[in-house]
Amino acid sequence: MSVELEFTGGVDDLISGELGGVQLLINDLERRVKLMVDHGQPPDRYNKYFAFPEQISPFRLISVAKKLGLYNTLEGILRQDLLLAAGQKLVPLDTDALLLTHGHYDHAAGLNLIRPDLETWMHPLTKRMLYSWQMMSGTTRNQFVDVYTNMFTAPKKYGKEKFVSGEEARIPRNIKTFESGITFKIKDMNVTAYLVDHSLVGAVGYIIDTSEGKIAISGDIRLRGRRRGDTEAFFKEAMDA
Ligand SMILES: [Zn+2]
Repeated sequence: MSVELEFTGGVDDLISGELGGVQLLINDLERRVKLMVDHGQPPDRYNKYFAFPEQISPFRLISVAKKLGLYNTLEGILRQDLLLAAGQKLVPLDTDALLLTHGHYDHAAGLNLIRPDLETWMHPLTKRMLYSWQMMSGTTRNQFVDVYTNMFTAPKKYGKEKFVSGEEARIPRNIKTFESGITFKIKDMNVTAYLVDHSLVGAVGYIIDTSEGKIAISGDIRLRGRRRGDTEAFFKEAMDA
């Protein structure tokens, strides 16, 4: 097999699938393309250990996430500042892109673990929504569009070092956007996103052209909303692919 799929989150078992937390890794060995689709927080597993408003401190994020199996913690996609804080060695970026289906927490919250230089694709409406959310909710936890490396220190003008914060700590993510139905490329792999109907704007399904055939990923969809036609159009594209 030249295409490997690794599911983390959303697939507890075939009978009682876990709700959300989707993190799908697609490794096309023939095309030499490695993609992550969504990197969400798995609500069932997370809520077992943390009750609102408890949160994992950014300094311990990687070690706790690994220990509790909350996220796909491939070293090559993880933030280097978090690896350093966890006392782990730095590794080069080994994944080509992250595709986001939509901005719900169980699909996007794990972005705060992901390094900013990873090419991250989303619909322009998802980018706007996630930016608003990030800026309204505090940037310690919600780092969807920018990364805040506030565990680094910088020399203070007079005397002691201080932790960097705000603009000084901000690194913009390598975000790319697409238009619905227009094919884009991850290296030489064609990917097309289509708007689908869901309970927020900018939700898309993807059709990914791997060396073993096309993979359709619906993300979260509904057929009872105002834009049910979008979901039906995606189904048709997926069936015809
Ligand atoms: Zn959703």
